[in-house]
Amino acid sequence: METMTKQALTSEQLIEMENRYGAHNYHPLPVVLAKGEGVYVWDVEGKKYYDFLSAYSAVNQGHCHPKIVKALTDQAQTLCLTSRAFYNNVLGVYEQYVTDYFGFDKVLPMNSGAEAVETALKLTRKWAYEKKGIAENQAKIIVCENNFHGRTTTIISFSNDPVARKHFGPYTEGFIRIPYNDIEALEQALADKNVAGFLVEPIQGEAGVYVPDEGYLAEARELCQAAGVLFVADEVQTGIARTGKLLACDHEEVRPDVLILGKAISGGVYPVSAVLADNEIMEVIHPGEHGSTFGGNPIAAQVAIAALEVIEEERLAENAEHLGNIFRAEINKLVQESDLVTLVRGKGLLNAIVINDTEDSSTAWDICVQLKENGLLAKPTHGNIIRFAPPLVMNEEQLMDCVSIIRKTILEFKK
Ligand code: PLP
Repeated sequence: METMTKQALTSEQLIEMENRYGAHNYHPLPVVLAKGEGVYVWDVEGKKYYDFLSAYSAVNQGHCHPKIVKALTDQAQTLCLTSRAFYNNVLGVYEQYVTDYFGFDKVLPMNSGAEAVETALKLTRKWAYEKKGIAENQAKIIVCENNFHGRTTTIISFSNDPVARKHFGPYTEGFIRIPYNDIEALEQALADKNVAGFLVEPIQGEAGVYVPDEGYLAEARELCQAAGVLFVADEVQTGIARTGKLLACDHEEVRPDVLILGKAISGGVYPVSAVLADNEIMEVIHPGEHGSTFGGNPIAAQVAIAALEVIEEERLAENAEHLGNIFRAEINKLVQESDLVTLVRGKGLLNAIVINDTEDSSTAWDICVQLKENGLLAKPTHGNIIRFAPPLVMNEEQLMDCVSIIRKTILEFKK
C-alpha cells in the first residue's frame, strides 16, 4: 500500500487512524495540530488557535522556540546518544549549569516526569536505609489525596484515582496517603518513625489546580525537617516559571530536599526530566543502582540548558506572575456575570475554572469543544474543571484576546 503523505490527510482521516491503530489511552479534543509557534498552534486545515494547555505545562517557552530548537538541531547533527557507558562533552556542562541554576549539589538526569518521580522515590528509600537507619523494607513515604505523579505501577499504587488504578494491581507498598493541605494530618503521619519522605505537589495540577493555603508548604517543610524526613517536591508541572516564580516552592521560600523537574525543563522540545538533591542524599546512589539509556544524553543536555536560559532571558516567571494576576481578575468578573463558572483559582499562569455542574457531566468538555471552535484550546481536568495554562511567552494583548474568547464562549454557551 502506498503511504499517504501527511499533507494529503484531513483531520477526520488522521483522527480515524489514531483510533484504529493507536491504543485508546487518551481522549483528545477533536483537533489535529500540524504546526506551532509561540502561543499559537495550527490544525491541518490551517485554522489558528491559542494554545491554552501548553502540553500540560511543558511548552512554557512557547512552541518551537528558535533558541531551543537550534540547540536541538545543532546537537543532533553532532552527537545524539552515547549512553552513560561513556562520558560525553555536554553532560557535565549541563549538570553544572542545572545544579547552579536551582541551587543543589547534584542532579540525576532522566527523561519523563514519571521516571523522575520513580527516581526520587528510590532515592528517598535508599537514603532512609543508609542514612536514617530505617530497618530494611520498612520505609514509608507520605503522599497526598488526589495526587498525580505519573502512571507507572508504583506511582498509581499510591494514587486514589480509580481510573488510574483499576485492574493494575497488585500495588507497591510503603505509602501513607493523607489529605492535601492538612498540616495536622501530616504531623500525625510524621509520628511514624519509619517515614522516609513526604512527596508533594506544591499546587495539585492534574487534580484541578488546587492551591494550598498560604504557609502550608513552609510549615510542611519545617515539620519534615524536625522529623528527619525528606521533603520531596514534585514540580514537574508547577516548576520552571509556570506559577510566577521559578519554582512554586519559591512562593514560600521553601527549598525541598529533593526536587523533581520535567516538562518545561526542555521547553517541551524533548523528553527531559531531573532529580536534584544535595550530596548527602544523592551519594547513596552508586553505579548500576539506577539509570536510563537516554537519561542525560547530549541532546537533552543542550536542550535543557537552552530552555532554562530562555526562562531567564525572557523573564518568563515575571510575565507569568503579571499575566496571571490579570487573568484571574478578568475571569473573576466573568464569575459574577455567568452562572456557569463558579470560581477561578491558580497562581501565575497555572489556573483553572470550576464549572457549575456535576462532576460527571459533559459540560466542561462541551465548553472546551466550543472554545476550540472559537480559536482557543483547553482541556477539562477531572470532570467539571477546565485548566488554563498558556505558554508563558504570551503578551498582555494576546491574553486579553483569550479572555474575550473565553468570555464569549461561556456567555453564549447553551447546554
Ligand atoms: N508529576 C506531575 C506533578 C505531573 O503533573 C506529571 C504529568 O502531568 C507527572 C509527574 C508525570 O510526567 P510525565 O507525563 O512526563 O511522565
